[in-house]
Parts: sequence; structure tokens; C-alpha cells
Amino acid sequence: MNKYDQETRDKAAAMREDGTSYRAIAKALGVGPTIVHLWLNPEAKERHLERTREWRKLNPEKIRDGKRNWNAINSEKINKNAREHYASDADFRKRMCEYSHEYYSAHREEVLRRVHKWVQNNREKVRKYNRISWHRHRAFKKNTTIGSLPARYDDALYEDQHGLCYYCGASLEETGQHIEHMTPLSRGGAHALYNLVLSCPTCNLRKHTKTAEEFIEQRRLQAID
Ligand SMILES: [Zn+2]
Repeated sequence: MNKYDQETRDKAAAMREDGTSYRAIAKALGVGPTIVHLWLNPEAKERHLERTREWRKLNPEKIRDGKRNWNAINSEKINKNAREHYASDADFRKRMCEYSHEYYSAHREEVLRRVHKWVQNNREKVRKYNRISWHRHRAFKKNTTIGSLPARYDDALYEDQHGLCYYCGASLEETGQHIEHMTPLSRGGAHALYNLVLSCPTCNLRKHTKTAEEFIEQRRLQAID
């Protein structure tokens, strides 16, 4: 229940008829006295709305900043709600899809410009995403198993490996990271979580088409030499 709903307003009206002051009503209902005043005086409310509209017209940048702040603070909640809505409502998905096709045809250049700008500002994300979908694409072409990978599985692997290369223990933050198939796709390995680790680029290149076992054995022998 919301304390600003009709039920609360009716209660306020009844109390006012009994001669209770705005302040006392506000206190009893747990809302501000100004809002009680506005509820119970339609003209005052109309004047208030008129002033608000004026203010909004004169301060568009404040409204924009306010919205931006609110969105930033609540982004996780907003995204979660949007994802749930999107996942649960097939009709909504269809409408969104149609809408974005229409929007794209009508604003093609603007959309492309925005996408281009986003790509420029998010190079690392793009690189990561391309790498991930490239693996999927290759797994598909090699006709091997493709597991359903959880979102941000690379972050999970990173945490699991304490940020170190699976083979040589180098700090991935310093070297950069490659998504590495322990049994390579070319040798029938799956593109699935159980077959994935993160490695430094050097290990990834040296390992090439060896299995993890073969590569670890090679590293061991080289260390002895
Ligand atoms: Zn390494």
C-alpha cells in the first residue's frame, strides 16, 4: 500500500471534516502538511501545478540532471525491472522489436552516429564482446558442444582464478586476458564453462592446439631443460 493513494486522501478528507488541522492530519497519516493542503484544496493544487509547469519550462537542465541522477542511483533496479519485463512478456518483446525497426528506418543516420560514438567510448567492452561471440561462432562452425554460459562468466572465471593466468600465474590485469579452451575447439573441446579458463595472451598463443594437459607437460619439461 502507498501512503499517497486514494484511501489516504479519503481519510484526510474525513479528518478535515471533523475539524482536524492540516498539521495534525499530516502527522497522523505520515505525510507532509503541504501535500494534505493540496489534496483538500483543488484550487491550491491547480495553482501549485501551474507553478510547477512554469518552473519546469524555465529549468529544463535541472530536470534533465535530476532525471540523470535518479537513473544513476536506481540503475540496477531499473535494469532488473526492464529485464524481467522483457523476459516475461512476449507481446512486449514483439512490440519493442517492431518499434526499434521502425525507429531505425526513420532515424538511420542518427542511430549509426550514436552507435559509432558508443563504440569509440567503450573499446574494451567491444573487444571483450567480440572475442566472446567469436568463440561461440567458432564453436558453432566446429560443430562442438556449446554450453549455455552465464552472463559475465569471464568475470566469474577471473574471480575463480584470483586474476591469474591459469597456466603461468601471471597477473591478468597486467598482461590482458584471453578466453582459453582447455581442450581446443579444433580437437572437439566444448565451448562450455567446464572447458574454459582465462590465460595470459602469451600462454594462449604458445598453447595453440595443445590440450591443457599437453601444454602443462611441455612447460614442465622446458623448466627442467
Ligand atoms: Zn600465462
